[in-house]
Amino acid sequence: GPGGPLLKLSNVESYYGPILAIRGISLELARGQIVTVLGANGAGKTTILKTISGVLDPEKGAVELEGRPIQRMAPDRVVRLGISHVPEGREVFPFLSVLDNLRMGAFPRTDRDAVQRDLEKVFGYFPVLKERAHQPAGQLSGGQQQMLAIGRALLARPKVLLLDEPSLGLSPLLVKEIFKIIRRLNDEEGVSMLLVEQNAHIALETAHYGYVLEVGRIVMDGTCRDLMKSDDIQEFYLGMK
Ligand code: ATP
Repeated sequence: GPGGPLLKLSNVESYYGPILAIRGISLELARGQIVTVLGANGAGKTTILKTISGVLDPEKGAVELEGRPIQRMAPDRVVRLGISHVPEGREVFPFLSVLDNLRMGAFPRTDRDAVQRDLEKVFGYFPVLKERAHQPAGQLSGGQQQMLAIGRALLARPKVLLLDEPSLGLSPLLVKEIFKIIRRLNDEEGVSMLLVEQNAHIALETAHYGYVLEVGRIVMDGTCRDLMKSDDIQEFYLGMK
């Protein structure tokens, strides 16, 4: 209902063929929040996002958006209901222009004037995309492609943005820049986000609440402030001991 979480997973299990990749995942994203899922390589972070976005059907459990079950819906329907996925590795269309890539993000919408306004808004957050609007996306740097992937997802006007390791392959400086914009999008536009990251430092600084994923299971959760103070998190995820 309206008072409940925006997005909720209950006891979700997903397989790749015979391989159980995530087991008994339960988590919640409240409206207006950034929630992070931390975990090492192969822990199952991408699998959680694919299960939410409908790319992968869970074997068990429920995924609910505003109380409505969405598990086993097709990905384009999930987008129309308000969940946009920024995949790992960005997956921009390299031969299309930056502008056309952005326009692709607006495919579920019919409100053309509002799309134009949102495009200008995205250019406000990512001025380099405006400068390069007519260049093929494949000519952008890794950081710029990440910006494009986020911008494209925003053009669907999502209720929930799923971010898969936005820090991947970027220099520390660019990571800072991208995460600053992620925070602004949350603060200024109220975009709710589920952020999966291997970079625990930046994820805990950015998000409100966090879950720790190990071998397909959630082993710990709490406010990011509390997680940062945890001895285990400091030792195994922040490399401080
Ligand atoms: P990464 O940061 O490497 O993407 P991750 O935490 O996102 O790691 P997942 O990609 O969700 O991890 O993978 C979870 C588990 O599922 C891993 O053991 C992985 O080897 C396995 N897996 C992922 N994709 C497939 C696939 N297409 N077929 C078979 N097994 C897979």
